[in-house]
This record gives sequence, structure tokens and C-alpha cells, in this order.
Amino acid sequence: MKIDVIGCGSAFSKIHNTSSVRIEDKHKNQWLIDCGPTVPRALWQRHTDINAIQAIYFTHIHPDHCSGLAALINQWKSMQRTQALDIFCQKEQQEPLESLVALAVWPERHVCFEIRWHEIEEDFQWRHWSIKTALTQHEMANRAIRLTIDDRHFFYSGDGRPTPESEALMLNTDLAFQECAAFHSLPKEASHGDLPDCLRLLARSNLNKLGLYHCFDEALPQIRQSITNEPRLFLSQDGQTFDLT
Ligand SMILES: [Zn+2]
Repeated sequence: MKIDVIGCGSAFSKIHNTSSVRIEDKHKNQWLIDCGPTVPRALWQRHTDINAIQAIYFTHIHPDHCSGLAALINQWKSMQRTQALDIFCQKEQQEPLESLVALAVWPERHVCFEIRWHEIEEDFQWRHWSIKTALTQHEMANRAIRLTIDDRHFFYSGDGRPTPESEALMLNTDLAFQECAAFHSLPKEASHGDLPDCLRLLARSNLNKLGLYHCFDEALPQIRQSITNEPRLFLSQDGQTFDLT
């Protein structure tokens, strides 16, 4: 499994792309997780083939995680994509995403490739990929995801503080990414993660490698400095790649 960090930024980052990763297996199956406003350009900079991404998984639909969908589908329509696309989202979040698809092709109504909508379940399969999901603590329902492909395990939190359910999905992973917006502790009921909470999580887990991402721009220098002595922690960067094979 190969991981390509398209973006690691928070919603209004002036430095980084909006948070998103691309996953590829050895058969060239490709997923995109989240698609914020700067994600399409980052994919185009990579010369990503218009048919390469077979599925998009939306952790939730705050605009920094989904508003790039219109631009991306508009490009695929303009360049005549032929491959069917699977879109995974929460049932109640599908309608706004359908509006973005409608915007992408408007005033036409026809999309030149098939789009298959899937409701995110707690446990499901896609080809030979095993997927588990769980809610985090976020102001909008957000489903963290654990992918198991060819005996490798990858976790991506989407937005929100860890919950016992999302934390359970992180265990025994080869690589995990946890949203960590703030350097200082946020209130327990907060909608975002923070560094002290991530450090506690790391201390009680067997995580090998935990990437912090979606950090507020102003928190980055302090977070970067604070984790230099923790080899299992790293600060995610746009364009970072990982090969878990
Ligand atoms: Zn959000």
C-alpha cells in the first residue's frame, strides 16, 4: 500500500493544501480520502490520470474536505473520464455532495462516467480491501477510516478528537494520521484534536508511526518543536509519501 499525502493543512491554511491522502495498492487501485478546495490542483500537478482514482471516501463534508469535488469532476468530464467512480459518504451527507456533482456538469445533467454512491458502514469490503470506520468527536458527523490492504493497516482520522471507537481502529496499524489542530489543550468537548491529547493517545497505544495533520498554521512551529524527541510522531507534510509494502 502506498500513501501520498496530497495535503495536510487545516481549513484556511495559507501554507498547506487542504487535508487529503491518496492510497494505492499494488494493482494500481486508487482511493482519494477527502477532496478540499486545493486538492484538485495538487492532483493535476501530479499528472494524475483522469481514470486513476476509482473511489473517493469523504470523512465528512465540511467544505475543506469536499468542495474540490466539483472542480475535480468538472476536469474528469472535460477530459472524458470513462472509469466508474465509487463515492463513499454518510447517508445524510450525500445530497450536498450530489449538488457538487450537479455543479460540476451544469448546465448539462449527464455525467460521462458512472457514479456509484455508497453509504459508509462500520465494516465493509471494496475489492480485496477491508475497511472499518468509526465516529470521531466533531461538530459534524465524521467517520475515521482504517484500511487493511495486503496485510498492511492504515488509519486516517478525518476531523475531530479521538473517541474510544476511533482509537480502537488505530491499534496495530503500520501508519496512522490523527487530526491535531492545536498545540495547547482544547476543552474536552472540543471539535478538534490537540497535541497533549495526541501525546496521551500515543503513550497508551502501540502505534508505530503517528502523523499529526490539519494543524492550525499558527500551531505548527510549537508542535514541530515539541515532537522532535518522539520518534513515533511526525508532522505531516504535503507531498509526503509512504510505502507500506
Ligand atoms: Zn471538519
